[in-house]
Amino acid sequence: MKTFPAAEAFRGGDGLIRVVGHRGARGVLPENTMLGFEYAMSTGAHLLEFDVVMTADSVPVITHNHRLHAPTYRDENGCFLTSEPKVADLTFEQIQTYEIGRIDGTSAYGRRFPDQSQIDGLRVPRLSDLMSRVVQPQYQAAHLMLEIKSDPDFAFDAGYRSKLVAEVIAVVREAGLDQRTLLHSFDWNLLAECQRQAPDIPASFLTQLPDNADEVGEDSAKSISPDFSGIETQIPDLVAKAGGALWCPYLDDVTSQGVSRAHELGLVVAVWTVNEPEDIDRMIDLCVDAIVSDYPGRVQRRLSDHGFQWVSP
Ligand code: MG
Repeated sequence: MKTFPAAEAFRGGDGLIRVVGHRGARGVLPENTMLGFEYAMSTGAHLLEFDVVMTADSVPVITHNHRLHAPTYRDENGCFLTSEPKVADLTFEQIQTYEIGRIDGTSAYGRRFPDQSQIDGLRVPRLSDLMSRVVQPQYQAAHLMLEIKSDPDFAFDAGYRSKLVAEVIAVVREAGLDQRTLLHSFDWNLLAECQRQAPDIPASFLTQLPDNADEVGEDSAKSISPDFSGIETQIPDLVAKAGGALWCPYLDDVTSQGVSRAHELGLVVAVWTVNEPEDIDRMIDLCVDAIVSDYPGRVQRRLSDHGFQWVSP
């Protein structure tokens, strides 16, 4: 199996489990913001997960949902949105009119993150904004788990999908970060397109079994995912066969057999999104390579308590 430096940065080892900041550090700072990314990196959680969607004027921007998420987007009057326009229908300039530094505490989504800071003046970053920050010397340990959000409305539009992948890869290459980036998605066909366009950049395969309930406030990107019904135990082999370097299963789907098989195949196993202390402990017991969390500090603390490191000595 081919090895990639970017994938190896996510690999654990003896007494070593990596910490990946999910959407920066969503538990404590507004998600998918430069502030969240800088915070995560400054705490030694050098591995960043974030989500990329393309605007109407073909700018890859960092935001989770295909529609502006009402509980986290405020208009020019400071009011949370009551409708959710699509990112694909707005230009980057139009998206810049919204603030994203607060979360609506009256929403079910807001209630999930009671500790998130409320900050004014934060706007949606471009992918290129994060890239130009990460290339700075103080962030040389940073590696990126770049999730491309696949739009169900364009699921069969090969031209759109090819352009989305091309625009994302162009930004990565322009920054010179192709050796420090993973291309990550629930959409395995899109990952195949990534591998066609950039065989030198490792692909990271997200999975979630249908039995496990959706989390509140997420959107439909994972609807474009293969159906694993009846073949759950074969997923690591399927990821390897598809050319994956990394497998990223949902925390409730992980078994010790799955982790062992993935390791036999040479895959890196990074589990999402692990926030509760008992779940973090279970991941430590399972010897996963990396833990993706909204609370990277909490994961560091559990690792520390168990005598684990999260960076190579
Ligand atoms: Mg994501």
